[in-house]
Amino acid sequence: MIIMKFGGTSVGSPQRMHSLIGLIDNAEAKIVVLSAMSGTTNSLVEISQALYQKENDKAAILIDLLEKNYSNVIQELYTTESSVSKAKELLSIHFDYVRSFTRDLFTINEERAILAQGELISTALFQYLLEEKKVQSVLLPALNFMRMNENSEPDMGFISENLRLELAKHPSESLFITQGYISRNDFGEIDNLKRGGSDYTATIIGAAIGAEEIQIWTDIDGMHNNDPRFVNKTFPIAKLTFDEAAELAYFGAKILHPTCILPAKSQNIPVRLLNTMQPEALGTLISSENQTEGFRAVAAKDGITTINIKSGRMLLAYGFLRAVFEVFERYKKPIDMIATSEVAVSLTVDNTDDLENILVELNEFGIVNVETNLSIVSIVGLFPAEKPGYAGAIFDALRSIPVRMISYGGSENNISVLVETKIKKDTLLALNKGLFQLD
Ligand code: ASP
Ligand code: MG
Repeated sequence: MIIMKFGGTSVGSPQRMHSLIGLIDNAEAKIVVLSAMSGTTNSLVEISQALYQKENDKAAILIDLLEKNYSNVIQELYTTESSVSKAKELLSIHFDYVRSFTRDLFTINEERAILAQGELISTALFQYLLEEKKVQSVLLPALNFMRMNENSEPDMGFISENLRLELAKHPSESLFITQGYISRNDFGEIDNLKRGGSDYTATIIGAAIGAEEIQIWTDIDGMHNNDPRFVNKTFPIAKLTFDEAAELAYFGAKILHPTCILPAKSQNIPVRLLNTMQPEALGTLISSENQTEGFRAVAAKDGITTINIKSGRMLLAYGFLRAVFEVFERYKKPIDMIATSEVAVSLTVDNTDDLENILVELNEFGIVNVETNLSIVSIVGLFPAEKPGYAGAIFDALRSIPVRMISYGGSENNISVLVETKIKKDTLLALNKGLFQLD
């Protein structure tokens, strides 16, 4: 069994849905994970925001607009009248449901229910298309088996058991369709895996059933050595280790959801990144296979804030860092980079929720300074600690870049530098030239 995940643009129009069939209609047993049609989740977020703000008229207009789009989609998507009328019925059920929230109290639970509609609709419409085309397939409701625990981590035991039960109901079938992104939480309520979470669904499902391979299909021919949005000359990386891919996804490579590598790594299931527009391209294979040393890729993560704490109490003291970190732990705030000197420590966070409260507590320790609009640029690859030259090559490449902070030695897979976001592009270009000889 393999898992094939297709994102929003791959199901983003009737034409794209039609071409998807060519990629999945073959003898290989598979579970196909679909996102919502592109733009839908954004619209549902907007609708929810309007409802939170009690702008119910605005929400109603947005809902009508989205429904209209879908009415157009189904006219184009199907050739038979019976498919169109089935799809109309489906849309009216989902949109009446969304509309019902304009008449009642709106809380986070209603929001999650609204956000789930995009994937429920895309998978149902696609299933109808397969039926019309006489392609034998089964729609598996993700809400029957996807479940997160109290720490918002996948409840693998539950998922594995219940997914296997669902599959066992159809022993002679080989093509299954299911929703990405949506899940139940610890209370059994409808929830989701956060934006971009369909990749995570695919790797969780792959791990839960011990799939042979997990394929993430997007619009680019794999993970590139640099960010193609800022740098012209980039190339796809043929092979990555799980650790390298996890670092790249976490530090800004938009092609993969940051935590989606974990389930695949835990069960050692290869993940292949492929391109729907160019299915024959090799893409990127992510596996546990040994990697040659060297630079693999750079990626950047924006929206970084640094907090610098300078304190006489740190000098020759112990327990200071623990006290500082405890503040962040209490606010459940992950720290990305740290740098210390004998009397000061700098650390970075990627969101500023609760920052005011954190700063009040940190002020107890010394003088606190905050800087915003920074980016972490991560250089990922395999840099064995005993080998000279890697730091040298990076510093050489960054000769003309003002670097704010450096993290080296935390792992053999990542060297990160912090720069002002306004010079991120220059930094990516400088590294492309210095490390990959691409000018
Ligand atoms: N539809 C969801 C989103 O737009 C999940 C996904 O596409 O991966 O974030
Ligand atoms: Mg995505």
